[in-house]
Amino acid sequence: MFLTIGTTGTPERPATDLGFLLHKHPDKAQVFSTSHGSAHVFYPEASAERCTAALLLEVDPVALVRRGKGKGRGGAPDAALAQYVNDRPYAASSLLSVALAAVFKSALGGVCRALPERAGSPLPLRIEVPALPARGGAELVHKLFAPLGWERVDATAVPLDEEFPAWGDSRYVRLVLEGELRLADALRQLYVLLPVLDDAKHYWVAPDEVDKLLRAGEGWLADHPERPLITRRYLSHRWGLTRRADQALELVRLAEADDLDVDSLDNAVDESADTEEKPVPLAAQRRAAILDALRGAGASRVLDLGCGQGQLVQELLKDVRFTEIVGVDVSMRALTIASRRLKLDRMGERQAGRVTLRQGSLTYTDKRLTGYDAAVLSEVIEHLDLDRLPALEYAVFGAARPGTVLVTTPNVEYNVRWETLPAGHVRHGDHRFEWTRAEFRDWAGQVAERHGYTVRYAPVGPDDPEVGPPTQLAVFTRADTTPTTTKTEKKKEAEAA
Ligand code: SAH
Repeated sequence: MFLTIGTTGTPERPATDLGFLLHKHPDKAQVFSTSHGSAHVFYPEASAERCTAALLLEVDPVALVRRGKGKGRGGAPDAALAQYVNDRPYAASSLLSVALAAVFKSALGGVCRALPERAGSPLPLRIEVPALPARGGAELVHKLFAPLGWERVDATAVPLDEEFPAWGDSRYVRLVLEGELRLADALRQLYVLLPVLDDAKHYWVAPDEVDKLLRAGEGWLADHPERPLITRRYLSHRWGLTRRADQALELVRLAEADDLDVDSLDNAVDESADTEEKPVPLAAQRRAAILDALRGAGASRVLDLGCGQGQLVQELLKDVRFTEIVGVDVSMRALTIASRRLKLDRMGERQAGRVTLRQGSLTYTDKRLTGYDAAVLSEVIEHLDLDRLPALEYAVFGAARPGTVLVTTPNVEYNVRWETLPAGHVRHGDHRFEWTRAEFRDWAGQVAERHGYTVRYAPVGPDDPEVGPPTQLAVFTRADTTPTTTKTEKKKEAEAA
């Protein structure tokens, strides 16, 4: 069983960084023993331009048969074992997926102390699995991988016997994936989808597999169009487990809809859903509050930091007072969706001249972000690990220093009012923290003081007398700007900065 992971690079960002991200040194060949044989990791190529890591799992058929006793799917061990003895040693299956998770555990978790930014950013990746058993064929392979941001999904059927083409194709495909994805996301997709394609797990599926699936599916599974098939097959058709996973994923999807794709949120989680009128989704209320604050500050050149799929940029474009709009996000996938939403390729020259979308991480200072009237961080800070927050604080308030900074974040106190959210859960799988009003004000107050800003707070959404509003907004104003400064003064300031 074999799989390769490759990337390309430049002298500044060498491809061999892959070794750091996988926690496996490119100069060494290593062997790990797994419950079903030995997993070898080595690098067929490792230069600054190109680097490829290979995972080879050498299955011990005897161990497999011994361990397999009584563990076949649906309690039919003999049928399952017969298959193991035939194809298991070379077909990429759940065995490879388990080895992948064991050998690249930290990489799967997105952990990389040496290069945290690289681990958090999309890389050009090429994954190849030469013999992938695919129940459902190339067509299903496409349906599973294409929605996940891969630019190329190539599944070529492997003939049953190359000498006898008339025998037709085997149930194996050669899979090649190419695209810009975070390594952790790519590995987690493979971890789930290899056994889904094989549709025959080598071990008995216990209830903790639901948690494993939810963890590995974070960020991509909840809104995957083939989600029912994925959960069903991953959980070996155990109906009770599948239902549990689906319910949990549905909650994640609704919460993600709130954060990323407002338009599909609508009634799902809004507490006023049972009133006659169609409620205004919270995300739309958030954008309205942001637009108000930007207008109040007299801003015309605006940064949307962590712009996601471009909904706010789209609103800003509708108002001609916003003459320059820059959307920045670390996710290529989000930016691609944003540019499609804005129809950037079909926009007139003048309109297009007002907007720029740019990939970048907010935890790095970027000279190009200086001199703007305002910056918006809408539902972004909670996506950063707490220990990366000071880096963002410095990049925005210390280095870019716009006249106004708007920060919104969930108010965790409000979570008890969301009926669909289980107690103690955050609203979105990727939220690293959610703050109370006091915690947010504590942070914002300190930031303002450290960087010479004043700060005021405003509620977004219904301001509950007990738990406050669902979203909290902080409006920072640089101490040497006043909200009444005229545009020309601002322009001069910007030029001077
Ligand atoms: N501002 C949008 C999207 C919020 S979701 C809205 O209000 O709807 C959070 C966004 O922050 C995601 O698009 C994510 O890719 C982005 N993000 C997270 N960490 C980032 C970082 N370090 N640098 C830039 N963007 C980041």
